[in-house]
Amino acid sequence: MRTAIVCGAGGFIGGHLVKRLKAEGFWVRGVDLKFNEYAETEADDFVIGDLRDPMFVREMFDRRFDEVYQLAADMGGAGYIFTGANDADIMHNSATINLNVLEAARRRAARRVFYSSSACIYPAYTQGDADHPNCSEDAAYPAAPDSEYGWEKLFSERLYMAYARNHGMVCRIARYHNIFGPEGTWNGGKEKAPAAMCRKVAAVPNGGEIEIWGDGEQTRSFLFVDECIEGTLRLMRSDFCHPVNIGSEEMVTINKLAEMVADIAGKRIRKRHIPGPLGVRGRNSDNRLIRSSIGWAPERPLRQGLERTYSWVERQLYRNAA
Ligand code: NAD
Repeated sequence: MRTAIVCGAGGFIGGHLVKRLKAEGFWVRGVDLKFNEYAETEADDFVIGDLRDPMFVREMFDRRFDEVYQLAADMGGAGYIFTGANDADIMHNSATINLNVLEAARRRAARRVFYSSSACIYPAYTQGDADHPNCSEDAAYPAAPDSEYGWEKLFSERLYMAYARNHGMVCRIARYHNIFGPEGTWNGGKEKAPAAMCRKVAAVPNGGEIEIWGDGEQTRSFLFVDECIEGTLRLMRSDFCHPVNIGSEEMVTINKLAEMVADIAGKRIRKRHIPGPLGVRGRNSDNRLIRSSIGWAPERPLRQGLERTYSWVERQLYRNAA
């Protein structure tokens, strides 16, 4: 039986990944500081523990896993990453996890290792134009991410590549772009724009007002979690060994995102623009490399994923209120 370990299995993407690996017949160990808040885990073995502790990580690697997925990170939405108040935690915690997991995987000769990097590694200077951001993979250097979260991701990308080079390991690195979907954080300050927008729209009556950070003309693309998992598995099992984008190329402004969600909800909304942490002006996935390297790229329209996410967030909101 094929075996996998998912670090960060209590998180959003990790939870979906465990389900998919189970559906494929894997024996799966999940590791996290916490259980997933929204769904029972399907992992065969789920261990609560701290991946910053090297002894604990070594215990988790008690066998030669076929597939190692390293998704654990200290992360959140713009409200967590861009204030500066969490920079030391973000860098220390995530770098320590990556150092520990990769070393343990090496000691146990893991067959394949996957690392989830982020679009946040791209330089601020290629993303100043809302209409024409440049996130082709080779735009990463000269490096100038706009957050310490991005710098840590870039360091860790290089760490995985160095282990691959020096220790002959098989490492795969994806740069995820804004993944969203059901069972993702939707309140509390660490949520991303699509979930936040769904919550705000669900919470107001028809004709109500929602708050949007900045002028709302900043652009982003959002990828539905099912396609993220599909891309992750395809990349993991491919022979492509460089960092590659996993994201959607359907770029929208935040204002447009709000209107799309309102339309799904069947509500008219008024938008009030307020100061808030914004990140770069424009960002979009560039899927030329993933298409040419593994022969696949996400294709599903944003609206489809938003429909599923909106109805899930709406249910959470009413459950909380009840
Ligand atoms: P998430 O926060 O839901 O999941 C991360 C998990 O890591 C959490 O469950 C958390 O408890 C766990 N974790 C943190 N510190 C830990 C520790 N010391 N020991 C054990 N577990 C620990 O995030 P997600 O959205 O599922 O993202 C997964 C990965 O993908 C992260 O590495 C993230 O940086 C990356 N990523 C995500 C997105 C996105 O849009 N969701 C975009 C780019 C990159």
